[in-house]
Amino acid sequence: MTQEELNIRSQFSILYEKIYSKPLIYLDNGATTQKPKRVLDAMQRVYEHLNSNVHRGVHYLSNQCTDLLEEARRVVARHLNAREDAEIIFTRGTTESINLLAFSFGETFCKSGDEIIVTELEHHSNIVPWQMLCQRKGMTLRVIPITDDGELKIEELDNLINDKTKLISLAHVSNVMGTVNPVKEVVAKAHAKNIPVMVDGAQSAPHMSIDVQDLDCDFLVFSGHKVYAPTGSGVLYGKREYLDQMVPYHGGGEMIDKVSFSGTTYNVLPFKFEAGTPDYVATIGLAEAIRFVDEIGFEFIEKHEQHLLQYTLSQLQDHYGVRIIGNPKRRSGVVSFLLGKAHPYDVGMILDKMGVAVRTGHHCAQPLMERLGISGTVRASFGVYNSEEDVDTFIRAVRQAAIMLS
Ligand code: PMP
Repeated sequence: MTQEELNIRSQFSILYEKIYSKPLIYLDNGATTQKPKRVLDAMQRVYEHLNSNVHRGVHYLSNQCTDLLEEARRVVARHLNAREDAEIIFTRGTTESINLLAFSFGETFCKSGDEIIVTELEHHSNIVPWQMLCQRKGMTLRVIPITDDGELKIEELDNLINDKTKLISLAHVSNVMGTVNPVKEVVAKAHAKNIPVMVDGAQSAPHMSIDVQDLDCDFLVFSGHKVYAPTGSGVLYGKREYLDQMVPYHGGGEMIDKVSFSGTTYNVLPFKFEAGTPDYVATIGLAEAIRFVDEIGFEFIEKHEQHLLQYTLSQLQDHYGVRIIGNPKRRSGVVSFLLGKAHPYDVGMILDKMGVAVRTGHHCAQPLMERLGISGTVRASFGVYNSEEDVDTFIRAVRQAAIMLS
């Protein structure tokens, strides 16, 4: 099947917008994706016909919304191949999921002197919450370095792991270079020493099928909005053996079993970690987005996006003073580059005037920028609705920018 046969683009009306009278070429999918009509419809249907707070009421509407929310949990659990629905905690996104984990895991399992390992290519979301934990507890953050090509120096992990290591937390895919990290290899090394692993799936969830049992990771997080779902939806997957033991993150309604001034007991999984009214409408939208990608299938998505990625690299490489940042053997979703000595922001501005939306800057990965000795990049990132024609327009715009900035 082709993209046309699957009618993918036509489901995204925003892709037909004009920007400065030019057709929109949306290549900022790493920041957020557009939403298909079926996701918007699913949310509108809730607000127009079913809206009521979940898990609280005895009445019809509340039960309908609760059923849809719990169905969303089943959809996500099946999608990730979790062992059980209760291992899926709904959050507002990757950042909240990692903060939840850093707090609850940290409070339960960590003490002064312990260590957490991250990598040099992480997004700030997978650095700062761990630094905050380290500061709170008097712990140390250790870092797996990368090669000049932007790949993990996995052999260094053996020197970093010791009996104080409590968790390894790494991105599945780099949001700057698209490096696909060898998660299974990291998990194998970690589990040999009984150390759990958290995977930041923010940039992998939109591009590849994820099987948490196959990866054997202990935690995995992602944001709905990068997978064609609404903002305010997100997931923390965790193995029950850890989640059951972990103290809650937020206190409030729904996460309790019984509250009294002499002491409070907590609800069972997953509700122990879902205090307060959740963004159930966004989460119902997330389920529809997951159905959307699962119906297309990751076989198609990966093949289509890899084609666009390789086509882009071949068109960009060695042209117009372009320097591609990172040269990983396995790359997914994104291409970062610099254009001669031009500032990435200036390149982005010129592309914007031609209707091409890309991202510029440090991409919330300042330690990676420091390692690479650059202040930022221009990043093009792909979604299932992008086409070869999008890439052609993008390349024409880069050529134009090169002429203007030379
Ligand atoms: N991790 C990675 C690898 C990311 O790319 C992003 C988003 N740019 C995040 C974490 C944070 O995601 P969110 O802002 O949706 O919480």
